[in-house]
Amino acid sequence: MLHGNRLWTSKMEKHTRATAMNLNRDQTSLFRLAVQRATDGIIWTNSDGQIVYANQSACDLLNQNELELVSQSIAEVGIRLVNHSTNPTWMQLHEQLKKSNGQPVEYNLSQTNGETLSIDLSASFAQLDGDEFCSIFVRNISRQKQSEADLKQQNEDYKIIFDAVPAMIWYKDTSNKMLRVNKTAATAMGKDALELEGRNTRDFYPNAEDYYKDDLEVIRSNTPKLGIVEPMVDQFGSKAWVQTDKIPHRNEKGDVNGVIVIARDITAQKEAEEALKSTANELEQFAYIASHDLQEPLRMITSYIELLQLESEDNPESKTAEYMKYILDGAFRMRKMIRDLLQYAKIGRVPESWEDVDCYQVVLDVEKNLNVSIKSSEAFIEKDDLPVIRGTHTALVQLFQNLIENAIKYRSEAKPWIRILCRKGMGEWLFSVEDNGIGIPEHHLKKIFNLFQRASRHDNEGSGIGLAIAKKIVDGMKGRIWVNSEPGKGSIFCFTIPIKEKT
Ligand code: ADP
Repeated sequence: MLHGNRLWTSKMEKHTRATAMNLNRDQTSLFRLAVQRATDGIIWTNSDGQIVYANQSACDLLNQNELELVSQSIAEVGIRLVNHSTNPTWMQLHEQLKKSNGQPVEYNLSQTNGETLSIDLSASFAQLDGDEFCSIFVRNISRQKQSEADLKQQNEDYKIIFDAVPAMIWYKDTSNKMLRVNKTAATAMGKDALELEGRNTRDFYPNAEDYYKDDLEVIRSNTPKLGIVEPMVDQFGSKAWVQTDKIPHRNEKGDVNGVIVIARDITAQKEAEEALKSTANELEQFAYIASHDLQEPLRMITSYIELLQLESEDNPESKTAEYMKYILDGAFRMRKMIRDLLQYAKIGRVPESWEDVDCYQVVLDVEKNLNVSIKSSEAFIEKDDLPVIRGTHTALVQLFQNLIENAIKYRSEAKPWIRILCRKGMGEWLFSVEDNGIGIPEHHLKKIFNLFQRASRHDNEGSGIGLAIAKKIVDGMKGRIWVNSEPGKGSIFCFTIPIKEKT
């Protein structure tokens, strides 16, 4: 039994040994295959640096086949130290690879086709039959190097732009700390950008808390806040006006970790606006006082002329009656001009109250007001489905009335035909009032919206203020007004009104 057991054991041992040998054989071919197909280049050299084996990737990288490579020295295949024009000798290469202790070292590789690649070399050394063999691993890092170079270039370009833009830019974290500051901002703060980075804005701006409130709103809502017009007072009390955009800053995971603040100094623009506003206010006041106060003496002149006229009726032969008529005409014209001027001065720059106004109803009201002239001229008014917009009813009646009145006043031989249309544009309503009247010569098109500008001498009475009033109303609603016209064919007056939401 014992004998049988030993027999069985020895059989087992034999079987195990055979299996191990088979496994070794399989493993060897597996290893060989793995080395042959590895994506990194693998080169074996003997102790003289003579290549004894090169896998497929190494052949591809060196641009030679295995036969050409084997028996060449590794020092001859075109490996160069970065920034060196000559190849290192095997001794030098051996020393460097030994020193690097298996860590990759960067080299350049001049391929036989004239191209240069960036490569990493690492090596391991082994003793075999008393000779030292070296396994060199070659990795092509050209693409990675190119991406790094591109990234570096991009960063440099970005830095140049970041510093060159005339706007002040800050990157701030959630605790109001400045992480990056561009040159424009640093100059405005009288510091060097590096001195500012890491500091809190509270140290520089007395009203930093107000800015911070907006920052936090942007960070919490993850939504940009654009066009904030605010005063910027520095620690020395110097005040500027800025227009600021705040944009959430996100990390690579997309989480908001700060805010990018871009501020433009608009002090000059703001001052110009203020100056213009005060000039306009003064002018308005002047026009109001002048027209208001002029009315009284004019009323007196006209009433006395009327009295004189009555008296001169007794003497029909006298020229006085004719002269009186001219004077009276002149006085009436002047009164109309003064009234219109007064009306112009009274119109506010911005509507006092915004309400929903049905433009179709506005045109119906205008038709009622102009009933007499519409009937007498047999004018036909065609109107679209006009929208309900935010504005002031009286101002819109005035606007449409001035345009429609003109379309009738400046009619041609034909019966007046007026078409009023409206369409929705990008954030605004576009209205047009078209007529078949006498038209306006091109050189007058821009001027006629100015006070007292008339396109030509007309028989009818006019003060040259109607279109200036129309423009002031449209300007006040932040719209635009213009005219296209062809003399003899007619005119199209167009104006826009921004679409305003109810607030
Ligand atoms: P007024 O009509 O009192 O002269 P406006 O300011 O209303 O003043 O118009 C300025 C000038 O523009 C007019 O004198 C006229 O020459 C010209 N104009 C305005 N509307 C029209 C129109 N629809 N067709 C032709 N000319 C026009």
